[in-house]
This record gives sequence, C-alpha cells and structure tokens, in this order.
Amino acid sequence: MKILVINSGSSSIKYQLFDMANESVLAKGLLERLGTEQVCLGHQAGGAMVEPSCSAKDHAAGLGLILASLVHRDYGVIERIEEIDVVGHRVVHGGEEFSGAVRIDEKVTEAIERCVLLAPLHNRANLAGITAAQAALGSAMQVAVFDTAFHSTLERAAFIYALPYEWYERYGIRRYGFHGTSHQYVAQRAAQMLGGQLNELNLITAHLGNGCSITAIRSGKSVDQSMGLTPTEGLVMGTRGGDMDPGIISYLAANSDMSPEKIDKELQHGSGLLGISGLSNDMRDILRASEDGQERARLAVEIFVLRLKKYIGAYMALLGEVDGLVFTGGIGENSAVIRQKAVENLQRFGLRLDTRANEALPQGQASEISAVDSEVKILVIPTNEELLIARQSLALSGS
Ligand code: ADP
Repeated sequence: MKILVINSGSSSIKYQLFDMANESVLAKGLLERLGTEQVCLGHQAGGAMVEPSCSAKDHAAGLGLILASLVHRDYGVIERIEEIDVVGHRVVHGGEEFSGAVRIDEKVTEAIERCVLLAPLHNRANLAGITAAQAALGSAMQVAVFDTAFHSTLERAAFIYALPYEWYERYGIRRYGFHGTSHQYVAQRAAQMLGGQLNELNLITAHLGNGCSITAIRSGKSVDQSMGLTPTEGLVMGTRGGDMDPGIISYLAANSDMSPEKIDKELQHGSGLLGISGLSNDMRDILRASEDGQERARLAVEIFVLRLKKYIGAYMALLGEVDGLVFTGGIGENSAVIRQKAVENLQRFGLRLDTRANEALPQGQASEISAVDSEVKILVIPTNEELLIARQSLALSGS
C-alpha cells in the first residue's frame, strides 16, 4: 500500500510518499514559490536531492511536477502513478464539522469550504491541493486529516470564550486548537516510551516550531489548547505574539494611523520573536544574538520562556496529575537551552531535568531527559505529522 501525504500551502506543496508495508518513506520533497516562474522543487529519494527549476502556475501544475518526479526515470521511486493507492491531505481547519480523518467526497469538500471563513489562506490552499489530486490521481482514495480534529474532545468550558454567547452561535467564535496531528503523534509516541496506554496517561505536549502551541491531555484526550479560533493565540511564536490584551487592538485602531488590515498583518507577521527582537523569527538567530549580548534578543528569549512556563504551570494545575511533559517542533527538539529554561525551578512541581541528558541529546532522536527521581517524565520527541496522516489514511482505506 503506497500513500502520498500532501500538505498544500498557499505557495508551497510538501509531500511524502510512504510504503506502508514498513512505514518507510520512499520519497519526500517541497515545492516552493508556486505561482511564479521560479518554482523550486526539492525532491529527495534514496538519499539523492534533485532540484529541477521549472514553473507552475497553480496547485494542479505543482502536483504535476511532483508526480513527474515520483515516476522519473532517474530519481523516481515508482513506475506508474496508479501505484499510489491513497492520498492523505493535511487540512488546517475542520471547524466543528470533523472530529477525525475522513474519506473525501462532495459533502466533505463542501464542509471544508464552509471552514474557509475560519482559516481563509490555509483551507483554500488545502482545497486546491485536494482538487488537484482528485484530477491527477482519479483512482486513488482521498483522505482529509484535520489539524483541529484532535482537539474536538475539548469540553465547553474549555472552548467557549467568556464573550457574548451569541458570538459562538452566530459566528462560530470558540477555541478550536491547532497542530492536532503533531500533538496526537507525540502523545502516542510518549505512551510507547513510558510503557503505558495513552488513555491512561495525562500529558502536556509543547509543539515549539515557527508556530507554537501547547496541549493539556487527560486520559489520552485533548482537554485544553493554547491556540484558539485561529492559530494566533497562546505561546510566543516566530512572528505571532500569542496572548495579549484584546484592548490593544481597539486602542491602536482609535489612536494610531494603522488600518485594521495593517494591525492584523503586524499581529500575524510582525510580532513574536521577530517583533520583540527586530532581528529574526528564527530561534537560532535569536539565541545567538542573545549570547552576543543583544538586549532585545535576550528579552525575546525571556518572554518566550516566561509564557511557555506559565502554560506548563496552568496545565499542571488543570490536569492535577501529570505523567509526562513532551517537547517537540524545531525549537522543542533542538534547543537544550529553551527546554532547560522552561522547566527551571519546577522541582517542587515534580519536574527535574537531567541536565546532561538534555544537553547531550542526539539530533532527531526521541529521548527521556528527566532525572531518575523526576515525578513527571520530561521527553523530547521529534514530531512526524506526515506519518500520522499516512496511518490515519491507511486505517480509513480498510487495508
Ligand atoms: P515549522 O513550524 O515551520 O514546521 P519547525 O518545527 O521546523 O518549523 O521549527 C522552526 C523553528 O525551530 C525555528 O525557530 C528554528 O530556529 C528552530 N530551530 C531549529 N533548530 C534549532 C536549534 N538547533 N536551536 C534552536 N532553535 C532551532
């Protein structure tokens, strides 16, 4: 069984082709600058990296280039595209319509369309990817896996904002939560590592990448999440600031020369690590600049860690008993210093880091980094959203 996993962005398509007999990745790649004449396709198969330069005006053309690479005489991995049995699509927003992966049919497409209002850029791109795959791979089953689905178990007290209740009823304003596939994958992996059943474990999972979010998991189910109606709430991120006083927006609208569009743009693309430091959205740059004594970079790290720590504390209080704290995402997996700062002085709450294990962690490896006497296990687990999408697609295919 071969499954192609597709993550369509507005100007990019990420893909991985799995052989589910042994869950191996036959090929993977990233097509960037879609819609331009300088489309760049990084295609990786059997260790080789090929980057033909080409043009693709839309998702259909982009997917065409990807499929051509998969069957290419020199660096292809299958002979015919009909060998692809299932296509698993990452879809960002499933609203209240979806609590799990689904086989895509007309009704599902319509429901994803209804969710476009909630995530205009993301869902439109996801739909373009679905339409392109349906046209190019007619014989393959198409599956949608939603970023929001894992959080569909949130109870009303966790997802209703303390706002006029009609806003929920009329506009669907509520907490949805995101990065669900990543949180679910690392939670399942954590259960394996801790030698328990996921439905018997309480976990806090911190996905720290360009986007950052944290989930409280009780008995294997998501019960609270830092992201809200959109992926803007919660932790400090690369270019998004997370939690803030909503009064700031009306204050700026009344007292600055910024339009609502400009304010929103700054909240999405000019805030977070970039906004504070004025330097970069990349944690590596920020840490380097901070070590070099740059004051605002140091401040960005402090604010990032302070917010993270507040959420860890809040979720410990919410869960009562916590079996494990999991770090994942580019920052969570690679930055010993951020992990160390996040759990510093939390011994009284049962979190004790093994400093040496934290620092010596081999890249890309799942590992426990808590001291032997730590009540709460601290784990680093590389996320693998594509693999979980492939597994859920396989399960739906009935094979
Ligand atoms: P995305 O959310 O786009 O998938 P990633 O999960 O790859 O992104 O995370 C990107 C973030 O990870 C960037 O801020 C990057 O600086 C950070 N990162 C990657 N490697 C390191 C490292 N060694 N130390 C600190 N941060 C790192």
